[in-house]
Amino acid sequence: MEYRIVEIIQEAPRVRRFVLQPEHNSALNFIPGQFIVLQMESPEHGIIQRSYSISSKHANDQYLELCIAMNDNGVFTPWLFKQEEGFWIVGSEPQGNFTFLDGQARVPHMFICTGTGVAPFRSMISKALKLEDTPIYLVFGNRFSEDILYHEEWKQLAQQNQNFHYHPVLSRQNQSFAHTGYVHPVYTKILEKVNDAQIYVCGWQNMLVETRKNLKALGFNRKQYHFEQYD
Ligand SMILES: Cc1cc2nc3c(=O)[nH]c(=O)nc-3n(C[C@H](O)[C@H](O)[C@H](O)COP(=O)(O)OP(=O)(O)OC[C@H]3O[C@@H](n4cnc5c(N)ncnc54)[C@H](O)[C@@H]3O)c2cc1C
Repeated sequence: MEYRIVEIIQEAPRVRRFVLQPEHNSALNFIPGQFIVLQMESPEHGIIQRSYSISSKHANDQYLELCIAMNDNGVFTPWLFKQEEGFWIVGSEPQGNFTFLDGQARVPHMFICTGTGVAPFRSMISKALKLEDTPIYLVFGNRFSEDILYHEEWKQLAQQNQNFHYHPVLSRQNQSFAHTGYVHPVYTKILEKVNDAQIYVCGWQNMLVETRKNLKALGFNRKQYHFEQYD
């Protein structure tokens, strides 16, 4: 199918939000956590496909949003960042199994990510917030404060929902509102105190490997943690 890029928003120095409208203006249904595969074609590279998590807030919408980081040495993102609003791009239907599990009310929900790894969590957290009496934690790592995606939205959610706990973490900057360093000690401190949890982790390999090791050491098993790896 094809999507029309209806809006491009520079969200952070290296990250753009792409708002897509599916052909025939049909509303798109997806399960929170899913991704779509976008495709480009050029004489130099032929057909190239890359996956992108859906960062829309709600699953049934006329538009679909993606949050994409520029990779200077990559193939797809330098091409995509040259495209403008109005461009039609080939893409798949929503797909993937890294999805929000229903029916876990009152069990703490932990979302751990770095950078654009936060994308699938936007709709997952919207859904988790509908569960009654359920503590929800977002531990979100970035280098600098300007890199934090949807920062104002997370702050607002935390103000509006007593059960939503937002933990920004910055590895290269000290800020009074954030933890300094990496995400690992931050989620460890929270998870040490709970017996059961549903844990979702999304991002690049290095962070995922370390997190998996830590979660196992904390006594969590594969029914309790779920991973989406970007590389
Ligand atoms: C399920 C899933 C969801 C994803 N969701 C998102 C998302 O929401 N947002 C997001 O930004 N990304 C996401 N990704 C990552 C995305 O799919 C791409 O991998 C990313 O955008 C880089 O694509 P690229 O073509 O620009 O870079 P690539 O061409 O894939 O290059 C990646 C890296 O490989 C190296 N490389 C490439 N070619 C060469 C070469 N010839 N020689 C040496 N080194 C080379 C470069 O250093 C580059 O840094 C997701 C991935 C998956 C699997």
